Amino acid sequence: MASCFGKIVVGTYVEIKRSDGRIHQAMVTSLNEDNESVTVEWIENGDTKGKEIDLESIFALNADVAPDEEMAPSPETPPPPTPTSVKVTKISKNRRTIAPTKNDTPSKDNRGIPTRARQPQPEPAPPPAPPTSLQPTQLTQAQTQQQLQNARRKSNCVKEVEKLQEKRERRRIQQQELREKRAQEVDTTIPNYEIMYMIRDFRASLDYRPLTTADLIEEHKICVCVRKRPLNKKELAMKDLDVITIPSKDVVMVHEPKQKVDLTRYLENQTFRFDYAFDDSTANEMVYRFTARPLVETIFERGMATCFAYGQTGSGKTHTMGGDFSGKNQDCSKGIYALAARDVFLMLKKPNYRKLDLQVYATFFEIYSGKVFDLLNRKAKLRVLEDGKQQVQVVGLQEKDVKCTEDVLKLIEVGNSCRTSGQTSANAHSSRSHAVFQIILRRKGKMHGKFSLIDLAGNERGADTSSADRQTRLEGAEINKSLLALKECIRALGRNKPHTPFRASKLTQVLRDSFIGENSRTCMIATISPGMTSCENTLNTLRYANRVKELTVDTNQVMEGGRPNIHAVNKLDLDEEWLSMSPQRDDLKLLCEQNEEEVSPQLFTFHEAVSQLVEMEEQVLEDHRAVFQESIRWLEDEKVLLEMTEEVDYDVESYATQLEQILDQKIDILTELRDKVKSFRSTLQEEEQASKQINPKRPRAL
Ligand code: ADP
Ligand code: MG
Repeated sequence: MASCFGKIVVGTYVEIKRSDGRIHQAMVTSLNEDNESVTVEWIENGDTKGKEIDLESIFALNADVAPDEEMAPSPETPPPPTPTSVKVTKISKNRRTIAPTKNDTPSKDNRGIPTRARQPQPEPAPPPAPPTSLQPTQLTQAQTQQQLQNARRKSNCVKEVEKLQEKRERRRIQQQELREKRAQEVDTTIPNYEIMYMIRDFRASLDYRPLTTADLIEEHKICVCVRKRPLNKKELAMKDLDVITIPSKDVVMVHEPKQKVDLTRYLENQTFRFDYAFDDSTANEMVYRFTARPLVETIFERGMATCFAYGQTGSGKTHTMGGDFSGKNQDCSKGIYALAARDVFLMLKKPNYRKLDLQVYATFFEIYSGKVFDLLNRKAKLRVLEDGKQQVQVVGLQEKDVKCTEDVLKLIEVGNSCRTSGQTSANAHSSRSHAVFQIILRRKGKMHGKFSLIDLAGNERGADTSSADRQTRLEGAEINKSLLALKECIRALGRNKPHTPFRASKLTQVLRDSFIGENSRTCMIATISPGMTSCENTLNTLRYANRVKELTVDTNQVMEGGRPNIHAVNKLDLDEEWLSMSPQRDDLKLLCEQNEEEVSPQLFTFHEAVSQLVEMEEQVLEDHRAVFQESIRWLEDEKVLLEMTEEVDYDVESYATQLEQILDQKIDILTELRDKVKSFRSTLQEEEQASKQINPKRPRAL
């Protein structure tokens, strides 16, 4: 007897349709007569996956394996709903989409959750079929009964096959119509219209449940969120496509257009999950509510809080932190800096905190190429010092007394205009510097809590390390290093790590006290641009944000397992003393070891050269200043000496001795400075040499 499985046998390859609309091949691994289904398996991301699919769904997609006429399967019921629960893994890759049609929209249970359950079979399942008998005369009573049931099923089968065929035909016609309609609709001025339709259809199959104010605000020690901005005028004008979908309160999907060898295009949909995901219609106030607001209380409870905006230039970091910049003027009252300040003053009025008699101060500074500049003091260059107890101090940083939100707004305006003065565009400079705004609570002068809000440099600048221009290279190196160090410091906050590379960058060094201590909390807002043209940068941003929180890999363990000696490739003639003495260098080494995937040995060598360069530059400048001061004194001494010689009876002996002394001193000091400058110059050359050795594939933008 031919079975209801048609031409399917174990090992047959069939097309299957996945919950997200993808269709791909899978192998049949068992035939389940009981419920007229097959079990299929396929390999995804190296894992074998499987599921049970009813025959009807299989035949709907694989007409070629369907039974001939009357031997078709016979489920009485309509096809089960295609489950579309968005299955989110940390990163799920290679989800090819062949645009699902509206008909595939899944059914939902009354909570709106896509259902997986199979519909009940109205007829009781037949008992397992006995071995096929060739001799009717030998039939037992039970077998006769079975035959009758089979016959009934057969007639049902015929009906079902007809229904299936009808449905298939209807679907074919619908699809044909859709194609024709699209062909007419096609706006050939859109460069990627096929991709646009794929994304549109994919979205049509999703169940949207964005974040609302009713959603719970969770307590996180480390909170990582993503914010998507809308397409801007420029992107709209060039008809860029929006390739980001945020279907729910914590999921971000990237639809990356790809091309097969035969040039057909398809979407690779990647899904990421974070603590929160904000779509392009979310206002700053709402972003603030779930990100920085929960941290305000931390600083009243004697804790340290940090909130970072991380992303590519133009993705919305400043819009989020500093406020809406539409037009020429920035409305800083809508930025997270100001919203946090507003709530600090509100909180101050609460009876619990009022009695603490806290004073509020604000600082605003910028870190550019490893140097600190005070934005509240006409960009004065400040020195960062570390004492024996590893307490870091930014010498001379102005802490302004603030009494109300308006005071803070004024400071933000002053700082912003100072930050961007002399720049052609706000982004030209801010893409290369980190801006740090701090709200500090003091009690009788002593630090009670500190909230640092940071608008980071554009992460794409971290890839500038192989630029031909030294200035750009050094900026890029510092950004690359500081963003890697930031990631490690945040990760360390969530674990018990023996050593954290704070000193690998100025940013993390300055924020050190905010990453240690039981009571420290942090939040990262990864901002992303929606456009297809930004896809690669967006994916890099999402991967970085993902790693900030992932707690699966213990780097210490990995390191104990023996790492390649990163220093082995170092062929540069760097200052031996510096290599063995510098704590910065130790932290840099640790950082690079923790980030081997991104930091090639060549890049590490380059970072070493840059770090040494920066330290040497500071030393040379300091010594030069000292020599300059000294020279003024020499001049005065020599003047006195020369005046002495004008007297008729001056002491020639004394003159000669004194002059020799002055000259010896001069020669000593100048020789020392000259040697320093020489070795500084050779470090400059080494830096250049190291930059040329960086593997061009690495680093990518962080
Ligand atoms: P970044 O600081 O990351 O370089 P900006 O914050 O300056 O980027 O944003 C770039 C542009 O996009 C600005 O014109 C800004 O007004 C606009 N923008 C950013 N985020 C949003 C948003 N969520 N809604 C509307 N416009 C935005
Ligand atoms: Mg900016």
